[in-house]
Amino acid sequence: MNFESLLIHGGIDGDERTGAVNVPIFQTSTYKQTGFGVNKGYEYSRTGNPTREAVEKLISELERGYAGYAFASGMAAITAVVSLFKSGDKLLISNNLYGGTFRVLDKVFKNFDISYGIVNTTDLEEIRANIDDKVKAIFIETPTNPLMDITDIEAVSKIAKENSILTVVDNTFMTPYLQRPIELGADIVVHSATKYLGGHSDLVAGLVVVNNEELSERLHFIQNSTGGVLAPFDSFLLIRGIKTLAVRMDRHNKNADVIAKYLSNREEIDKVFYPGLEGHIGHDTHKKQASGFGGVISFVLKEGYDYKKFVESLDIITFGESLGGVESLVCHPASMTHGSIPYEIRQKVGIVDNLIRLSIGIESEDDLIKDIQSALNKSKI
Ligand SMILES: *Cc1c(COP(=O)(O)O)cnc(C)c1O
Repeated sequence: MNFESLLIHGGIDGDERTGAVNVPIFQTSTYKQTGFGVNKGYEYSRTGNPTREAVEKLISELERGYAGYAFASGMAAITAVVSLFKSGDKLLISNNLYGGTFRVLDKVFKNFDISYGIVNTTDLEEIRANIDDKVKAIFIETPTNPLMDITDIEAVSKIAKENSILTVVDNTFMTPYLQRPIELGADIVVHSATKYLGGHSDLVAGLVVVNNEELSERLHFIQNSTGGVLAPFDSFLLIRGIKTLAVRMDRHNKNADVIAKYLSNREEIDKVFYPGLEGHIGHDTHKKQASGFGGVISFVLKEGYDYKKFVESLDIITFGESLGGVESLVCHPASMTHGSIPYEIRQKVGIVDNLIRLSIGIESEDDLIKDIQSALNKSKI
């Protein structure tokens, strides 16, 4: 089946008992056992629930993995993945990983003696130089948020394999429609399904896909032991969202391409970060490993323009956290997603105060450009 059809008919397609075309919401905690040790494959919904299983099977097929697991949030999914490691282990992480992933490593797992080393994963030599006996995995995001750094997934996976360590890819920004890390050699893919997979800003969810039976057994054990599972209703919503992923991503790509080019030509703007722009560092690597550029664009306003006025003057584009929904959103990384990082470090890594991030939705591109144009006009100090 082609990918577009798999989005709609993959995993568990409909309901066998009734013929319903959608997987029912099995809103149940427990299941009748017909005798000691005799059941229909389900005992308790933390361990297994048919609606959750449908989305788990679906994401596993979409990412071309061995098995998938659904969690109550992207962070619960990432926490489960980090729980595969033990005291004394170390992870190498990209230098501008999602803030929440950095926080859970720095403030939670560090207390359990699972450490991390920050590397520029766009530089393969730097990765190699930082691998020692303690390092058990490389955790990457590509493109990164908000500066859209591109890491070569295939090359990193190769280095990891040579050193018998795991490659974990947070594929939230691309989704399996545009980029499939397991096909490029990664072992584990994680998602904040809150973003593009859900697609409608109406649920919080996380997914993990692993590439082999051993990891699958260990991850299911962790999921059942720690219990951060996705509820049946949210599993249903996520399946519903995934059905339209291809058409939504095509539109996100198209709108973002037009807007990135528009922003690049505006005199109020200093720099635009979008992997689809030919001048973007990593553009060629991204093109090699993904079939589109996604809907997230960041840009820096020139001096003399007020980022607060810009953001507050937008009308259609909503000021808020998150990304990946059908509606366009704007956020201010320095005070929002990266607010916990000290000012000097933010300057050093490029999260300057005049940096703005857009998650381009699927509205009319004309309306979005008009909105941006009007806000730029009002942003002059
Ligand atoms: C949002 C996000 C997360 C965290 O997911 P939640 O669903 O908010 O818990 C992790 N990684 C990336 C890249 C994200 O954008």
